[in-house]
Amino acid sequence: MSQQADQFKKLVSHCKEYGFIFPSSEIYDGLSAVYDYGPYGAELKNNIKSYWWKAMVQMHENIVGLDAAIFMHPLTWKASGHVDAFNDPLIDNKDSKKRYRADQLIEGHLDKIEEKMNKEVEKALKRFGDSFDEAMYRQTNPRVLEYQQQYDAILERFTKATAAGDMAELKAIIDDLEIADPDTGSRNWTEVRQFNLMFSTQLGNIAGEDGKLYLRPETAQGIFVNFLNVHKTTRQKVPFGIAQIGKAFRNEIVARQFIFRMREFEQMEMQFFLRPGEEMKWYAYWKEARMKWHLALGTPAEKLRFKDHDNLAHYANAAVDIQFDFPFGFKELEGIHSRTDFDLSSHQELSGKKMQYFDSELNENYVPYVVETSVGCDRMFLALMSQALQEESVPDAKGEDATRTVLRLHPALAPVKCAVLPLLKNKEELTGKAREVFDSLKHSFLCQYDEKDAIGRRYRRQDAIGTPFCVTIDFDTLQDDTVTIRERDSMQQERVHISKVEAIVRERTDMSVLFR
Ligand code: ATP
Repeated sequence: MSQQADQFKKLVSHCKEYGFIFPSSEIYDGLSAVYDYGPYGAELKNNIKSYWWKAMVQMHENIVGLDAAIFMHPLTWKASGHVDAFNDPLIDNKDSKKRYRADQLIEGHLDKIEEKMNKEVEKALKRFGDSFDEAMYRQTNPRVLEYQQQYDAILERFTKATAAGDMAELKAIIDDLEIADPDTGSRNWTEVRQFNLMFSTQLGNIAGEDGKLYLRPETAQGIFVNFLNVHKTTRQKVPFGIAQIGKAFRNEIVARQFIFRMREFEQMEMQFFLRPGEEMKWYAYWKEARMKWHLALGTPAEKLRFKDHDNLAHYANAAVDIQFDFPFGFKELEGIHSRTDFDLSSHQELSGKKMQYFDSELNENYVPYVVETSVGCDRMFLALMSQALQEESVPDAKGEDATRTVLRLHPALAPVKCAVLPLLKNKEELTGKAREVFDSLKHSFLCQYDEKDAIGRRYRRQDAIGTPFCVTIDFDTLQDDTVTIRERDSMQQERVHISKVEAIVRERTDMSVLFR
C-alpha cells in the first residue's frame, strides 16, 4: 500500500475510533456514501460552519444569511437547468462490474499527461539550477511539446463532446486512449449513458409527475428565488450577498472516497449580487478572499491551489476551483463561479415574476449578475482532518521513545477546548476541586472532565481529539490555587493561577483570532 493510501486508511479509522465519523446505519452494514458525524465530529463540523458564517455574515456588512427549505417548487429545477442538464456521463466496466464517470476517466488521463510534463520540467530545473527558464523550456523542449500537443488535442475533443452531450464520442475517446478500469486494468466497457443526479420523491396528495419533488442538489437556488424577499426586507443595495449553509443531495455515480463524495452532504454557499459588467472585479475579489479564509487556518500554502475550469458549466462565464492536496491527490474543495444573470433570468422567465433590481445610482433596472462561492462542509472537514492528524515520536514517562497521535487542528476549530483532569481519581479533594474548575470553565467553552486512567494516557486521549489545553489539578492546587496547563502541540506545561486559565484558553481558541 502506498504511503498516502496508508495515511488515508488511518484517517478513516481514527475518525471512527475517536467518535468523529461513523458509517450511516452501521448495524445494517451501512449505506453507501452516507455518513453520520459522532460527538467530536459534530463539534468540529459546527465550528467549521461557524467560522464560515462569521467570515461571511459577521465580517461583511453587505452579506446576510438565509435558511431556505430543502424542498422547493419543482419548476425551480427546470429553471436552474438541473432537470435537463444535471447529468453525469456514466460507464460500466463489464468485467469488474464497476461504475465510473466517463468524464473523470478522461480527466484522469489528462492529469497523467500533465504530471509527465511537470516531471520533465522538474528534471530540467534540477539540471540547470538558477539559470533555468521554465517558460522557454516548455515552448521548446520536444518531449514537453509532444505531451502538450497530446493534452490539447484530447482536451479539445473532450470539451466539444461534453458541450454537445455526445455520449458516443466520449466512449470513442475512452477507447482511442485505451483507458482501462483503474482497479482491474480491463478495457471491456459499456456505452456511456447520461445519468441525472437528482433524488426525487413524491408530494403527499398529488399522484404522478405533478407531485414529483426533488431533494435540492445545491443550496444556491433557495437563495435565487428569495433574492427579492431578502433585498426588500434588509434594504441591501447591490453589491450584496446572501449566505446559506444547508444539506444538498446528489445521487453520485462514484462515491468511494469517504466523505469526499457523499450522496447527502452540506454546502456553505454565498451568492453575491452585483452590477452587470462588474463580475470580473468581484470574481477576483472572492478568489482572493476565499483563499485567505483557508490559509488563516494554518493550512500550508503548498496544499492549496487554484485550478481554472476547462469545461465551463452552462451558467458560468468564469469558474475556478480551490483544490486541496487530499491523501488521494489535489481535488476540488471549493468552487468560485461567475454565474452571470443566468439563474435570476431563468426564474424570471419561468415564474413570470420580475427579478429586477432598481439601481438608484444608475437610475436603471437590471437583473443582477452573480458571483458565488461554494464550499462543501464535509470536504472541508476531510481536508482539515487529513492535514491535522499526525504521528510523532515523543519520550514517554520513562524517557523512552514512544509515538503519540496528535490532531493539530486550529485551536479555534478544535471540538473540545480544554480538558480538566484531577491527578488522581480516588482523592476527593482533587476531584472536587477539578469539578469546581470544570464548572466555572464550562460557561465559556466546551470542556471535558476526565479522571479515568493515568495522567499520561489522558493527555494522549485529548491529543487524539485535538484538545488544545489540558488543565491538571494536583496537591499543590489545594495549597495555592495553581494548576498546570499543558499545550497540545508543544506539550509544554506551565504553572498558573486558576483565575488565569479562562483567559489563556480563550485567547488561543476564540474564533476571533482567525479574523485578526
Ligand atoms: P465535483 O466536481 O467534485 O463533483 P462539483 O463541481 O460538482 O464537484 P459544485 O457543484 O461546485 O461541485 O459544489 C460545490 C462544492 O460542494 C464542492 O466544491 C464540494 O466541496 C461540495 N460537494 C459537491 N458535491 C459533493 C459531494 N457529493 N459530497 C461532498 N461534497 C460535495
